Amino acid sequence: MIKTTKMFCAVTSALFAVAVFSTPAAAQSQSAWEHANPNAKFKRCATPDPSAEQMSKMNDAVNKVRGLAKKPDSKPGNPGGGSDGGGGDGGGDTVRPGGSVTIDVYFHVINDSNGNGGNSQAQVLDQMDVLNEGFGGITGGVNTPFTFNLVETTFTNNDAWYNAGYGDGAERAMKAALRRGGPEDLNIYSFNVGGGLLGWATFPTNYASDPSYDGVVLLNESLPGGSSAPYNEGDTGTHEVGHWFGLYHTFQGGCNGAGDGVSDTPAERSAAYGCPVGRDTCRKGGEPDPIYNFMDYTDDSCMFKFTPGQVSRADALSVTYRK
Ligand SMILES: [Zn+2]
Repeated sequence: MIKTTKMFCAVTSALFAVAVFSTPAAAQSQSAWEHANPNAKFKRCATPDPSAEQMSKMNDAVNKVRGLAKKPDSKPGNPGGGSDGGGGDGGGDTVRPGGSVTIDVYFHVINDSNGNGGNSQAQVLDQMDVLNEGFGGITGGVNTPFTFNLVETTFTNNDAWYNAGYGDGAERAMKAALRRGGPEDLNIYSFNVGGGLLGWATFPTNYASDPSYDGVVLLNESLPGGSSAPYNEGDTGTHEVGHWFGLYHTFQGGCNGAGDGVSDTPAERSAAYGCPVGRDTCRKGGEPDPIYNFMDYTDDSCMFKFTPGQVSRADALSVTYRK
């Protein structure tokens, strides 16, 4: 127990730094929020920005599945060429029905070498419930096609893996040893993630070149009932699984350009922390920032939904890569 307490000091203090900044800022000017991100050692998520190549691949896949791709063989005089039947690629141009796609989940709990610190089976089951409620629209968003079926929970005692960091040798060794299934199967790893991070995920386009690295990493204390308040209701899991399907942060690209590649998540200049109701950082006269979206950085108690556009994108990428 002493060891465990010590382990969490770094994370706890980093969380505290964010909490201190976030709470009063809710009552501060909008400009304070625009500069909120660089202050913190703490990052909600270490999933890297997609590379240009990844973005291009994923955009092409979405356009192809949704029947939006330009057809080089289109007959002259048939402008658009995107609505003459579609389908044929396995997914068609319609989002699959809510709850119709079951994702098998392999959940890997890492303890320290004395068997301490890791999540309980009950916490894993609670995390599964949070995933199914978030993706099932129970919390207030869209009912997505995805449901999650826990196939197996593994428990491993290993100090190096318990303290693995983003992209380091311990993380790679752990995943190489424990990962199960193919590209369509979700592997989640929980341990004492360092560096003040809550988690990270791989994009679907990573799988082909690096299959054993595929999956989602979660700070053990981010699971429901953990100690990483305000990030201890399990929504880090929902957020990272969103990345695993190919969703970007809602603040991807800031106010300009294609943003997160989804038309119904308003652009935002930077990540939102806390729950800054009414925050509107792009001032385009549209809707306020999507602070309630699972793909922002707000508190777990603030985020509760995916949008139809995100579901369409995730479904198209799933049809393409998670099969
Ligand atoms: Zn993220």
